[in-house]
Amino acid sequence: MTMTPELRSAEKLPSDTPGAERHPAAVDRRQMLDRLLKLGAGSLALALAAGGSVSPIASALAASGDKKATHRYGMVIDTRRCVGCKACMVACKAENKTPPGVSYTVVLDTVLSKRENDQPTFLSKPCFHCENPPCVSVCPVGATFKRSQDGIVVIDYDRCIGCRYCVTACPYGSRYFDFGENYPAIEDKTAYASVPSPEYGQFREREDGKSPIGNVRKCTFCLHLQDDQGNYDRAAGRWPACAKTCTGKAIHFGDFNDPESEVSRLLEERQAIRLKEELGTEPNVYYLV
Ligand code: SF4
Ligand code: SF4
Repeated sequence: MTMTPELRSAEKLPSDTPGAERHPAAVDRRQMLDRLLKLGAGSLALALAAGGSVSPIASALAASGDKKATHRYGMVIDTRRCVGCKACMVACKAENKTPPGVSYTVVLDTVLSKRENDQPTFLSKPCFHCENPPCVSVCPVGATFKRSQDGIVVIDYDRCIGCRYCVTACPYGSRYFDFGENYPAIEDKTAYASVPSPEYGQFREREDGKSPIGNVRKCTFCLHLQDDQGNYDRAAGRWPACAKTCTGKAIHFGDFNDPESEVSRLLEERQAIRLKEELGTEPNVYYLV
């Protein structure tokens, strides 16, 4: 199995390995039990106290902590250009091979005013890869974390215990639980079943009882299309599928750390909003209005 450098290094941490550094955010079993009890997760805490295993706790956070931030990826979505065709949803499904019931991006349509004859406004809505993601802080095992090198919020399927706290914590409905009940194609041995999920560069087969069945899933900004340096390449087609496919050219993707990027320039030139800004989540997806 091929793994991204981020997740690969997480395998070794925090470790009982001699000489391994322990990240300040990593917690030991005792700390996690306390944390779970504070969160009200009594049954999970009791199960762990009784010897159930969750391994290796918060190690993914440790992997994330010592990398320099080089990118801050995000999107600027032009609501005036979105025609509501949902090509982004289809492209995302095709790229990430998500099963029915799991959609990393959806298109909402809403009429913002009550005036007669007003047209609906369409909002293509991926995960916002928030700067202060509440989904991350509630995860009791450090399975979901924000990558310090590019700000992308990810889920380590090998650590996720499927508790779904993060689904509840996300104020934007960006996370989905993969129940595995929508994989009928597995039995049929169809082409759909035989194509592995490319997420995180891990190429997992769709096998009953194995991740990501039983895990929470969400948009990753198609990070499996990054090169070894963490760069995307639009000309080469290594670009988030929704942005690449958008028929109205409404979805702009890029690096907010680069002042010359298209997304940075659009924020300079146009009026933009973010959803539920009052929550302080600082989404990295902006909407031009
Ligand atoms: Fe987490 Fe939801 Fe923000 Fe995505 S949109 S980073 S899932 S809180
Ligand atoms: Fe963490 Fe969410 Fe998995 Fe629970 S369901 S372990 S909160 S990623």
